[in-house]
Amino acid sequence: MSNQRKFFVGGNWKMNGDKDELTKICNSLMNAKLHETTEVVVAPPSIYLDFVRQKLPAKIGVSAQNCYKIPKGAFTGEISPAMIKDNMCDWVILGHSERRHVFGESDHLIGEKVKHALESGISIIPCIGEKLDERESNKTNEVCFRQLKEIAANIKDWTRVVVAYEPVWAIGTGKTASPAQAQEVHKCVRDWLKTNVSEEVAKSTRILYGGSVTSGNCKELASQPDVDGFLVGGASLKPEFIDIINAK
Ligand code: PGA
Repeated sequence: MSNQRKFFVGGNWKMNGDKDELTKICNSLMNAKLHETTEVVVAPPSIYLDFVRQKLPAKIGVSAQNCYKIPKGAFTGEISPAMIKDNMCDWVILGHSERRHVFGESDHLIGEKVKHALESGISIIPCIGEKLDERESNKTNEVCFRQLKEIAANIKDWTRVVVAYEPVWAIGTGKTASPAQAQEVHKCVRDWLKTNVSEEVAKSTRILYGGSVTSGNCKELASQPDVDGFLVGGASLKPEFIDIINAK
């Protein structure tokens, strides 16, 4: 990893936790010795954004897991970037594979959300990644580039963007991409950014790996030159999240 890119670890808590459990996780984060060289951001369910934000020190970022593409209106069940900001939270994950494949979000919709979130002044963690059949038919790059293209077309300020590569077959399955597999895609994503955005953006943008990251595999993954951190699901709810934060 280049010195230019600060190691970044996000904890995606998905639809997990209650006030008791989230309090325990926040306390364990506050009591642990976290490497100063890692930027840490956690993403609780939206109903707990304020609860978690109030518990954690400012140096730990708090992220929503999704948001909608306009500021307000008749969109039952949705939240806007303005509401995330109003809760003193600065981040949102967009285009997570569960949003794409469970809730049917299209590349185009994710692009619109990217645009609106950035215009609203919050930072984003857009996710890309191929499904198993796509990998098996050698379509990994094609799929990742297609998703990335729609995201990149809506970004002006890359300093507020951290890209997450999360192969769908590795999410929540216990099947992690090998360090070589992760590095290969990360390098291709960086090359894509160089060709399609700019050399500076390619050099400075952090690319996270996500998919069954644990305390056991994080060190080797983190040692890959183009892996700049992690987006962690299951393990971010457990004490081993601290080891993952300190993987570098
Ligand atoms: P996992 O999830 O670590 O549980 O595989 C990662 C993610 O979905 O961000």
